Amino acid sequence: MSNLKVAFFDRDGTIIEDYPDHQWTYIKKPVILSDSIETLKSVKIKGYEIIIITNQYLLNEGFISMEQYKEITEMMLNELALHGIEVLDIFYCPHKRSEGCACIKPQIGMITEALKKYPDININKSFMVGDSVVDIELAINMKMKGFGIGVGSTYCNEDIYEIKHIKDLLAYL
Ligand SMILES: [Mg+2]
Ligand SMILES: [Zn+2]
Repeated sequence: MSNLKVAFFDRDGTIIEDYPDHQWTYIKKPVILSDSIETLKSVKIKGYEIIIITNQYLLNEGFISMEQYKEITEMMLNELALHGIEVLDIFYCPHKRSEGCACIKPQIGMITEALKKYPDININKSFMVGDSVVDIELAINMKMKGFGIGVGSTYCNEDIYEIKHIKDLLAYL
């Protein structure tokens, strides 16, 4: 039985503050975006598990170190835990944009990894949310529901929604 509903969240620009690539080199700790805590909480209450799906080409392109990535991730998870929010898992793509890997969004590799690890995931009851076109394209490639935060209405259809703020997605669940 595929009964696990998952809210797949982008990380940078969705849960925590994003920066231009070159600026990430100097970032030591994550800044949690204000409405993300409330939204993640509500999503959990509505019965979804949370999985973070994040492109980190910053790693292989040399903007950040693996240690830095892990520290920022751990600090983010600790802060979410302080608010009672447990994240089921995080999948990240470390590859350069030029590497042509199968996991960089909008490729579906990270979702198929999640499906392998958690076979109970029901993709029809799950959704992807993010602040980039690649997040929406990933949802389209997976034929799942998708929410684009401020990415415009180009992609909108019965499964793809444009929202202004992260918490707006709650109205659709
Ligand atoms: Mg983002
Ligand atoms: Zn990759």
